[in-house]
Amino acid sequence: MPPASPALSASQLATLAALGEERSADVGDVLYRVGDRTYPFIAIVEGEVAIVDAAGHEIVRHGPSGFLGELNLLSGQTVFVTAIVLQPLRYIAVERDNLRELLFEDGPLSDLLLSTFIARREALETVEGIGLEVIGPHSSAATLAIVEFARSNRLPLTWRDPGRDPAAAELIAGLDAASLPLVRLPGDLELLAPSPGEVLRALGIGAELGAREEVDLVVVGAGPAGLAAAVYGASEGLETLVVESTALGGQAGSSRRIENYLGFPAGIAGTELTSRAVTQARKFHARTATPYRALSLEPANGDGRHVVRLEGGHEIAARTVLLATGAQYRRLPVDCLADYEGVSVFYAAGPPEAQRCGASRVGVVGGGNSAGQAAVWLARGGALVTLLHRRADLRETMSDYLVHELDRFGVAVRDRCEVAALHGEDGELEAVTLASGERVPLSFLFLFLGALPCTEWLGDAVARDENGFILTGTAADADYLLETSVPGVFAAGDVRCGSTKRCAAAVGEGSMAVQFVHDRLRAGQRVGA
Ligand SMILES: Cc1cc2nc3c(=O)[nH]c(=O)nc-3n(C[C@H](O)[C@H](O)[C@H](O)COP(=O)(O)OP(=O)(O)OC[C@H]3O[C@@H](n4cnc5c(N)ncnc54)[C@H](O)[C@@H]3O)c2cc1C
Repeated sequence: MPPASPALSASQLATLAALGEERSADVGDVLYRVGDRTYPFIAIVEGEVAIVDAAGHEIVRHGPSGFLGELNLLSGQTVFVTAIVLQPLRYIAVERDNLRELLFEDGPLSDLLLSTFIARREALETVEGIGLEVIGPHSSAATLAIVEFARSNRLPLTWRDPGRDPAAAELIAGLDAASLPLVRLPGDLELLAPSPGEVLRALGIGAELGAREEVDLVVVGAGPAGLAAAVYGASEGLETLVVESTALGGQAGSSRRIENYLGFPAGIAGTELTSRAVTQARKFHARTATPYRALSLEPANGDGRHVVRLEGGHEIAARTVLLATGAQYRRLPVDCLADYEGVSVFYAAGPPEAQRCGASRVGVVGGGNSAGQAAVWLARGGALVTLLHRRADLRETMSDYLVHELDRFGVAVRDRCEVAALHGEDGELEAVTLASGERVPLSFLFLFLGALPCTEWLGDAVARDENGFILTGTAADADYLLETSVPGVFAAGDVRCGSTKRCAAAVGEGSMAVQFVHDRLRAGQRVGA
């Protein structure tokens, strides 16, 4: 159940009133409904409003000094819920563009709204029947891809597998496998076998790129490194475009709580950190484009512009390029892993997974901080968690504070363990066999096994090390610390050979790269060097 809104102060209501319009509504009036393309921010002066789902089930109520809205108010997504007036209402309506301007100027109000919107989105993710409905079998790769994509974008979704849900089977009766999944969107729009881009556009998220775009700086990858570069690049006058294949925020966006980011002594949720970064990048007019996967890089050959080619035939001609594509999770080398992925084996522990795992036996595999965070989060949600890792002592790979937290929340830690086989039926895990031969009963498995750099798409365009990480600075015979073997092409964050795989390091490198971009542009590129 989403939290009722915290109260706006009298002065905040006055600020909103100055920017918006005071209106009234009668009992039974609908302020906005599921499927609407947009809605204003609503602050309640007097009266009461109920938020209900598409079937009319009440989710939460808001009263005087409360406010309506969630993340889609900022992102411009289609509306997922309906707001109905319960008691005669006086309210202030502020249009989305005006609200965004205000959020850039008013820190305390921005903090309040942003953290409430994020908390509400997290809560909506756990409510069945909100947002997207994806209908397709677990055996369909296209279905899994859409489910995974929606989850990484924090889109509330209900996945109905026709193999387990006869009503869902009826909905797709007569459709061939190539037409799946059927995706039903708020407002009764239905799409057959859509691409992630089609789903996002149908939800009203993100602008489409032209066939060819020309910019000063193209940033490939919107994790902390890419977003930091976007903020610094755009705020320092560079025409900056960020292209992202999956979800703005990168790996950091999937972190439950980042405890070691400077300036947040109580820790900060990954989504909140990255939502703030996206808002900040937009404030400075950096453009973000998603989902657009970079497929190749052609270094400049005469016109001073490097070309990044994207899926869908788009090309970006940029004076400089920042490669910030990070790294991707390693998979477990066991048979039939794909049968379990998305059903009982996961690579991130978000609210929907935590809800499914409550009171179940859960294994978290990995010895790094991300594994520790997930184990603590799941244990706090009521799961019986065992952390399995390969080394003799967890302290070799995990921060001390997390080792203490594991103990505090009753997570069992098993050293020197490797998972050798999975057992179960229809994707539902029942047990795993360890390399030692021991069988451990587990219903869910979360894998945090480290990562491989997302650089295959680059081929030989820039020099990489034997593991695929991008060489920079002296290792690449480059003029600048973060420059690659191609002048004018830079790399920052986890994708860079020798980088510290942490958020703060990625942010530092992303912002530092912009300084080198300026230097390179001033010096003139050594084209073709
Ligand atoms: C669960 C978890 C918890 C973590 N907890 C912490 C923590 O507590 N503290 C901490 O400091 N660090 C933590 N980390 C590590 C931290 O998140 C990373 O170091 C950081 O996100 C790296 O940032 P980045 O921008 O370099 O790359 P990423 O965050 O990996 O972002 C790269 C982006 O590039 C995109 N991309 C990849 N290929 C392409 C392509 N071809 N075209 C377009 N886009 C592409 C990806 O989709 C991704 O969004 C955690 C990581 C995980 C997974």
